[in-house]
Amino acid sequence: MDQLSMLWEYQAEDIKADKMANEIRRNPIRQKLEADRNAFMERQKQHKQIEEQVAVLADRKDAVRDAIARCEDQLNNLQARFESNPPEDLDAARAMLSEANKCRENIVHYEQEMKRLTREANEHDQRGHAIRHEAAKLRAEFEQLKAQYDKENPAKKAALEAQREVASQKAAGIDAALMEHYLRIKKHITPPLSRLIGDQCSGCNTSLPSAVLRRVKSANNEVVECETCGRMIIQ
Ligand SMILES: [Zn+2]
Repeated sequence: MDQLSMLWEYQAEDIKADKMANEIRRNPIRQKLEADRNAFMERQKQHKQIEEQVAVLADRKDAVRDAIARCEDQLNNLQARFESNPPEDLDAARAMLSEANKCRENIVHYEQEMKRLTREANEHDQRGHAIRHEAAKLRAEFEQLKAQYDKENPAKKAALEAQREVASQKAAGIDAALMEHYLRIKKHITPPLSRLIGDQCSGCNTSLPSAVLRRVKSANNEVVECETCGRMIIQ
């Protein structure tokens, strides 16, 4: 058998192995596993962000609680001063009253903020809970799929290895330079070898110029590439 015919036979087994490898890569379970893992990690990230936001809200609530207590103290002090040392004239009374009103306004303002913070914290808690629930569901699905995948995958991998072995047996006896050439073309286009059908390259269905045709047909085992798709053409 001539070198190109041997290479042609090798290619048949090589391409078969590539298809099996592709099927393993494109296995829907494997893709679902990757999608689940990414979704799970995304939930973890979201959960962490929510925890950080809840911590910020809790700090702010502490600060607001302190501020309310300070305003109440101020108000109590004013009241004590009013009783122990009553204002002597109307202006002094007005000043005290205005100070007391300011304190009350501040308390109302802080209490409103406190309500808003509590509402936000509750919303975050609920969202955090929902995200934890989703993450747990994703993890359970992931583990179930992983078990299925681990059961099926070794058989497919073994079949692929067997096919690679069949291909490598076909490679025995093929010139190293010719094999290198084949692999070089394969990086750009596959299958790298195409038959001449009529006057066309069967890889890209382009008619070959007569000079190229002559070189393909001259039975001296010369490597001729299709000028259009770059495949190695054999008769
Ligand atoms: Zn071509």
